[in-house]
Amino acid sequence: MQSFSVKGNIVDIDNQQIFYGLVTVANGKIVTLTTVNTDTKIGADYILPGFIDSHVQIESSMLVPSKFAKLAVVHGTVGTISDPHEIANVVGLPGVPCSFVTLTCYIFY
Ligand SMILES: [Zn+2]
Repeated sequence: MQSFSVKGNIVDIDNQQIFYGLVTVANGKIVTLTTVNTDTKIGADYILPGFIDSHVQIESSMLVPSKFAKLAVVHGTVGTISDPHEIANVVGLPGVPCSFVTLTCYIFY
């Protein structure tokens, strides 16, 4: 898998600070996090943990989960806790699994 590095203002949630640093990724995992400057914020690029949307009805987007994910991830959302009650209201229990399956189960009417 590909390796790469990216510089930016790293948002350290645990220590409630922002510093300019370098993140190196290898094989899909962060392998190093290096501080370049502890005080200065440079530019407008920020690196922070992905967001988890704690309550979403994906079916309200009128998209299958895979299409929803492609749009959400570019805005920093890397996960959702999905509530499929709307599709269940429309088509009953048979609709619920469709909220978790991509493309192969699409029964929106
Ligand atoms: Zn809900």
